[in-house]
Amino acid sequence: MNPIITNSFMELIFGTHNRNKIIEINKILPSGFVLKSLTDLNYNSKIEETGTTLEQNALIKVRTIFKTFKKDCFADDSGLEVSALGGKPGVYSARYAGGHRNAEDNTQKILEELKGVNDRQAQFRTVIAMVLGGAEYLFEGIIKGEISNRPLGKNGFGYDPIFIPEKQRLTFAQLTLTEKNKISHRSRAFEKLIKFLIR
Ligand code: IMP
Repeated sequence: MNPIITNSFMELIFGTHNRNKIIEINKILPSGFVLKSLTDLNYNSKIEETGTTLEQNALIKVRTIFKTFKKDCFADDSGLEVSALGGKPGVYSARYAGGHRNAEDNTQKILEELKGVNDRQAQFRTVIAMVLGGAEYLFEGIIKGEISNRPLGKNGFGYDPIFIPEKQRLTFAQLTLTEKNKISHRSRAFEKLIKFLIR
């Protein structure tokens, strides 16, 4: 049975506590869909992200959430992939400089590793895993760009100050959130998910 056809509105669990992600997807979510976050559901258990790829981690999260709530749900995992570093930090982006998850240390580590390296190509990649009607789906969003020589800008979070998206001269941290969200890896993955839901 297809829940999209039988319901006048459709409730989906988004496996995150991150308010910014909820706001970002709500901006492009058509009417008829209602999102519940893990905070809305008072779900405070830590889901161990033990996968070695973004796909695995997104699936670990969504399967755990589906097992708990038995409802349609999705979860995302993102990372920065630097060509000259063989795709690192990738799935380890949040804790690249160590378990303390400090964004400034993470960006410094990348800049150190790329010192004197001409190839600055990088991409942000998001993978969304969804369980819908019991079946699993994956959606991917990518924004290509390059790593700057030094951190620039105050907006955003994580690696934003050192990532210059393609066709831009400014880093993600120098763009406004609205400008970033128009082209970001996450919004590209969200758009694919939504296109699928309203197909
Ligand atoms: P998450 O899966 O969305 O929690 O992202 C994991 C990590 O990837 C974050 O902690 C950041 O280090 C990095 N990251 C993901 N998306 C972005 C972004 O849009 N800007 C900067 N860093 C990001």
